[in-house]
Amino acid sequence: MKYFPTIGLEVHAELSTQSKMFCGCKNEPHAAEVNDHICPVCLAHPGTLPVPNQEAVGMVLKFGQAVGATKADFSEFDRKNYFYPDIPKAYQISQYAFPFLTGGELNGIKLTRVHLEEDTARSSHESTKGSEVDFNRAGVPLMELVTEPVIHDAATAGDFGRELQLLLRTLNISDANMEKGEMRVEANISISAIEGELGTKVEVKNINSFKAVESAIDFEIKRQAAALDAGEILVQETRGWDENTSSTFAQRSKETAKDYRYFPDPDIPKIVISEISDFRDSVLAEKIPVLPSKKREIYLGYAIPAQIIETIISDKGLDSFFASVVSALGNKQSNAVQLAANYVSVDLKGNSDIDKIDPTVFCDLMVMIHNKEVGSRGAKDLLPKLVDFTGDIADLVSSEGLLQNSDPTALLPMIEKIIEDNPSQVAEYRDGKQTVLKFLVGQGMKMSQGSADPLVVEQLLVSEISK
Ligand SMILES: [Zn+2]
Repeated sequence: MKYFPTIGLEVHAELSTQSKMFCGCKNEPHAAEVNDHICPVCLAHPGTLPVPNQEAVGMVLKFGQAVGATKADFSEFDRKNYFYPDIPKAYQISQYAFPFLTGGELNGIKLTRVHLEEDTARSSHESTKGSEVDFNRAGVPLMELVTEPVIHDAATAGDFGRELQLLLRTLNISDANMEKGEMRVEANISISAIEGELGTKVEVKNINSFKAVESAIDFEIKRQAAALDAGEILVQETRGWDENTSSTFAQRSKETAKDYRYFPDPDIPKIVISEISDFRDSVLAEKIPVLPSKKREIYLGYAIPAQIIETIISDKGLDSFFASVVSALGNKQSNAVQLAANYVSVDLKGNSDIDKIDPTVFCDLMVMIHNKEVGSRGAKDLLPKLVDFTGDIADLVSSEGLLQNSDPTALLPMIEKIIEDNPSQVAEYRDGKQTVLKFLVGQGMKMSQGSADPLVVEQLLVSEISK
């Protein structure tokens, strides 16, 4: 490839506040009933006044704290003017010259700015009666993040998106579901024959999965390269992503900031962050939970494989349960943490009752597995019984007949019986057929109803047969 691609991302995320950005309507953009959460303010009736939602501003500032962005002291809201049926005021309240945040970094990608605006309503054109508009989404707080143009391949862009989604969820400020439009990614892509130089920028919209982000970028790089090879001149434009044909298509020539005639909204007072006590650094810092990057560092310290860590930290239920398990085990029985990670990521994944399992009971079970007092098969059978269980796990293991027998003296009579009952298999093993050993161990597990330690059974079989 003789061209150098450069990619910058713009990401919108619907914030999960109680109410909308500038009115008291419930923030429920996906409500089943259309136009259920509307009022004169979000319908732009004449004479109404917008009041900024402090919770939404706090969420943006909290995000800034997590990514090390610079918090503005002075900020204001601007009107972004354009006409469209889904925008009742004929302008969108957004931020232009004074965004709440500038700078910061996530996943090694530098951020340009983060600002706050209101979402538009939603039009649909499916009805035979004509086009319809649902205003439940109009005025929902929307955080817009812009990265520096420092990405050079599709995979890095996809990874950034996934990490951002995880962070938004960890901070509890957005559900960030791409399919629901709670998180929307737009990619600005250009290619140039000269490294470090930017070519003509094309913006791709309507991308609704991380996989599609990657595919759209790859498609655009190839399309632009072919155009330049053919001697064509690329135009600055907005293109849509068509999931069915896996290709982009021209939508409109790209507007510039000038086209929107931004100006400060005269109805909204200016904001001086330092005058608001809830927005002090110390107050915001207290609201920051353990971030994904920190969790990875801690869990890698227990030698948990990276893939298992990702499975756990990307699932809210598993993540909080595992955090309690680690804090309980980490103090005294840290060598069982890795074992616990395996059970949590495989056996408890997708278990909707996970919050009904007492982490200390689960820890005690892990310690018993670690000490070979209960086998892995028995432990797996026991997991469903841990829901709402508050007693002593050792008693439960014993009453279920799952105490693991690792005592060679106690197991010897059973081993002798296996050898006596299976003379032909024993002969095959003596003749060098190693695989038959598995069958014989299986007989022992069956006879002991899963309670025998399979390793001890195997060792005993080998030593008894060779006698
Ligand atoms: Zn409203």
